Parts: sequence; C-alpha cells; structure tokens
Amino acid sequence: MPPTHEVFNQPPALTGYDVADDPAMLSALRREGAGWAEDAVRELGRLAGSAQVQEQGRQANEYPPKLRTHDRFGNRVDEVEFHPAWHELMTVAVRHGLHAAPWRDTRPGAHVARAAGFYVWGAADAGHCCPVSMTYAVVPALRHTAGLAERFEPLLAAPEYDFGLRPPETKRGLLAGMSMTEKQGGSDVRANTTRAVPVPGDGGSYLLTGHKWFTSAPMCDLFMVLAQAPGGLSCFLLPRVRPDGTPNGMRLQRLKDKLGNRSNASAEVEYDEALAWLVGEEGRGVRTIIEMVNMTRLDCVLGTATGMRAGVTMAAHHAAHRTAFGRKLAEQPLMASVLADLAIESEATTMAAFRLAGATDRAAGGDEQEAAFRRLALAVTKYWACKRAPVHAAEALECLGGNGYVEESGMPRLYREAPLASIWEGSGNVAALDALRALTRQPESAEAFFAELDQAAGADSRLDQAVVRLREELGDPSEARARHLAEAMALTLQGALLIRYGDPAVADAFAGSRLADDAGGGFWGWGRAFGTLPSGTDTAAIIGRATPAVPAG
Ligand SMILES: Cc1cc2nc3c(=O)[nH]c(=O)nc-3n(C[C@H](O)[C@H](O)[C@H](O)COP(=O)(O)OP(=O)(O)OC[C@H]3O[C@@H](n4cnc5c(N)ncnc54)[C@H](O)[C@@H]3O)c2cc1C
Repeated sequence: MPPTHEVFNQPPALTGYDVADDPAMLSALRREGAGWAEDAVRELGRLAGSAQVQEQGRQANEYPPKLRTHDRFGNRVDEVEFHPAWHELMTVAVRHGLHAAPWRDTRPGAHVARAAGFYVWGAADAGHCCPVSMTYAVVPALRHTAGLAERFEPLLAAPEYDFGLRPPETKRGLLAGMSMTEKQGGSDVRANTTRAVPVPGDGGSYLLTGHKWFTSAPMCDLFMVLAQAPGGLSCFLLPRVRPDGTPNGMRLQRLKDKLGNRSNASAEVEYDEALAWLVGEEGRGVRTIIEMVNMTRLDCVLGTATGMRAGVTMAAHHAAHRTAFGRKLAEQPLMASVLADLAIESEATTMAAFRLAGATDRAAGGDEQEAAFRRLALAVTKYWACKRAPVHAAEALECLGGNGYVEESGMPRLYREAPLASIWEGSGNVAALDALRALTRQPESAEAFFAELDQAAGADSRLDQAVVRLREELGDPSEARARHLAEAMALTLQGALLIRYGDPAVADAFAGSRLADDAGGGFWGWGRAFGTLPSGTDTAAIIGRATPAVPAG
C-alpha cells in the first residue's frame, strides 16, 4: 500500500529509562537512613523502566489470572493460573526482598530501603505488589505467637518465589495474604460470622467455617484470617495446604471482575473446616491483625506515590516532545502550570511516604516517639494521598490528550488503579475516623505530630499560619469534620517536610497553593483543579524534576 502520511509530532517511547532517577525519592532515601541501598534501588529502577519489564506489566494485565476450581476428573483444585509475565514480576520482587528484606536484614534503614524498592518496582505493575505487600506486613502480626513465627518467618523472608500448591514447610519461600472482609462488613470486622472451633487435644489448632467476600492473592501459602472463636473475634494463620499435604478446606468460589488491579486475583472464599492456628490470644483478633494492616497502610501510601510519579512522568515526557500551536506543550504556560502542579503533588506524597517509612524503621528499632508519630501521620497521609490519586491520574491522563484515553498509553491502567488504595486497609472515612481516634485518645501521637511540624516553624509564614488554623480545627474534633482535620494535618505535614528538605521551587509552590491563607478554592487562590498555581512559580524547574531522561534513538 502506498504511504498516505508520515507519523510525526509523537513523543519517543518512554522506555529504557531509570525509574529511580527521582530526586525527591533519592534524597528521602538518603535522609531516612538508607543511602546504602541506592545501587540496588537504581538497579530495580532501570529494570522497571526497561522495555522488557514494561511489556511484562502490560501482559500481566492483558491476560488476567484465571480460576481453576476443578481438575478434569472433577476433583477440586482451587488454583489460580497466571500469565508467565506475572511470575517474572513476582520473581524479581521477591528476589529483591520487597516482600520481606527488613525481617532478614535489620540494618538501620532496612524498611526505608525496602520502601524505595517497592516504590520504584511498583511502576512495572501495581497488581503483583499486593501479595508482596501482604507478605511484608504479616510478620509483625505473626510474631504474636512465637512458635508460628519461628516456623514460618524464615520461609516468608526467604528471597525465593516458589509458586504452587504444596505444604508450606516443603517450599523454598512463602507468600501470605489476609482474609478479613465478609459480605456483611469489611470496615466493621466485628460483624464477622466465620466460626473457629478448637481441635480437641491440639492446642492452638482450630477448624474455620464460613466465607470471606474479598481475599486477594488467594494463591498465597498462608493467610491471616479473622474468625469468631469461643473467646471472641480472633486472628488465625491458615495454610492453603495442610502440613500433611492434603488440601485445606479453602474453596475459591469466584474471582472478582475488578475495575483495575487486573493482574492480581481477588477471590471469594468459602472455608469448610479449614485448619488454622491461633495467632495472639482469643478475643484479640483485631488487635493482632491491625499490626498487619498498619504495615499494608504504609504500602497504600507508597503505591499511591508510585502511581503519581508514573503519571506525572508520562505526562511530562509527552509534553516535552509534543507541539501544539507552534510550541512544545511543556512550554505553554497553562500546561506548565498543570504539569508543575501534578509534580508538586507527587513530590509531596513521596516525601510523606518516605518520612513514614523512616518512622517505621525507627519504630521497629524501639523508638517510641517515632511510633507515636507514625500512628497519626500514617492515618492522615493514607487518607489524603489516596484521595488525591484518582484526580491526579485523571489530570495526568488528559495531558496526553486522546492518546491518554487509549489503553496502550498505560494511562487507563494507572487511572483504574488509582481509587483502590483508598478502599484498602480502611476506606477514606475509616482512615479519617482512625486519625480522629488517635488524636483524641492517644495524646502522645498528637504531641509527636506537632513536634514534627514545630521543626519547620519560622521557616515559612504560610506554613506557620496553616499550623495555627490546624490547631483551631482541633477545637472541633467531631466525626463529621474528620475529613477536614485529616486533610489539614496531611497538608501541613507535607508542607513541613517540603519546606525543611524539599526543592525550593517545589516547596514554595506547595506553600503558595496548598497552605497559603487564600488557598483552598477561593476564586483567586489555589483552584479546585490542578493547574492553578500562584503566578511566579518556577514551573520549568519543577517540571524538569519530573521529566525522564530517555536514551536517544
Ligand atoms: C480489589 C480489592 C481487594 C481486596 N482484598 C481484600 C483482601 O485481600 N482481604 C480482605 O480482607 N479484604 C479485601 N478487600 C476488602 C476491603 O478491605 C473492603 O472492601 C474495605 O475494607 C471496605 O469494606 P466494605 O467493602 O465492607 O465496605 P463498608 O465497610 O460497608 O464501607 C462502605 C463505605 O462506608 C464507609 N464507612 C464505614 N464505616 C463508616 C463509619 N463509621 N462512618 C462513616 N463512614 C463509614 C467506608 O469508608 C466506605 O466508604 C478488598 C477490596 C477490594 C476492592
């Protein structure tokens, strides 16, 4: 066929770049005590930005997992089949210890190093990060029963991805999931009806019967499950295959047909006298499993930061190469304002995520002040960062024009993923109410939080005034205003971190938009959409930090 036209004015493929070439992340990595991990993070960054891994991420979503309930003879198998690309992604994640390295390597900064790896590698595909995150998170909860931790922690922490239905102790490495939500209630797990009956003469063993409405990554080896024991709601460790090699009573009914997160499987499960071991004490199930939830909440923030960074990177790359009305998009003043605003949001989220990873690290080392800070700061950051994600993704998508709405740009995948972290591990309202609870019932958390803000006092009058307004807001700690409060706390924390450590142009624009007195939706202040930064913002400097260096040719 004779050529009808030339293709021009399209950006080069965004591939072959280093995802870890991310100034806010790299400086946070060093500041939070894990500079020693930079080479490993860079290695993951180059992998995540490679054409091969990008293709694996696409395939893992294009060919989502399939449930096989029975074999050809009619026996139940309850297995999930994945595209090879999924297994490749999992292999890299586990080999790099994103599922557990800090439980093996207790060097200061180990949780931060792992956070950086998770943040960077998540750009390849968000779905497989779910079992990676749950495996990382299970260990603190599991330690409530020393015998179980001794038995399984070394295998959970092993850098070996060993897929398949076999007894846990015969495998080279294990993965863990969590099974809390039932049809009648996910936030209010006290409504769980799954029953746990003690096995007579076998201390600590129970048989669980009931259903779970959402259990992600059902091909994991072990699950933390909530069930009603004689002493009340309790936490159990449930193996998918019993130690004697027989299948446990865990039937996968269906896989959810989800909006996004399509590479990952999320199942409806029936437990039918499934063997499980008590973790912690009977009746203290929520207190035990909350330790796992607290770790996965950090990953909700990190994963959200990953999505924002990916979105603004793709948008900035496109705008650097695409011309309209005689000028590059990135040079058009209004597009520059949009891109810079997206970049500011992304950097603020990254800064907060890494501050929380650092707090996790220091809290794990016994620092009580950091544990108290993390308690409140994580709740408000989880609330706010996850709320910003869908609108951030939508705006980044629009920067590519019509191409952004087309699947192969990668933007639709990012957009569909964006609301999920807000639902997981305490949906928006629940996270805001949790922050309110910490604020009113754990004064040491509030003290640690304000001590953190105080570190930036006097450096920027807009932040100082925002903190005054925040303290006023504390005068009305009602449930109905919990979102106001969580948002204000998250914004002041992000502002304080940027003003202390951030790039000056980013910090100035953040304070001028998100903190200034007239910010927050006045006609002349920061608008409600992205792209309404104060005039005089150094947009070129800010956009430059989000524009990837792509090899020529
Ligand atoms: C893709 C996906 C994977 C999942 N994987 C898992 C998994 O692996 N394991 C697992 O256990 N669960 C999983 N879940 C379930 C998830 O944790 C729950 O959906 C979530 O906790 C919310 O529970 P729910 O759906 O029952 O909604 P509800 O608890 O009914 O909440 C509905 C709405 O009401 C709000 N709300 C609740 N209480 C209050 C209140 N007191 N005041 C004001 N508002 C309130 C919530 O914020 C939410 O917006 C998954 C969900 C999804 C979408």
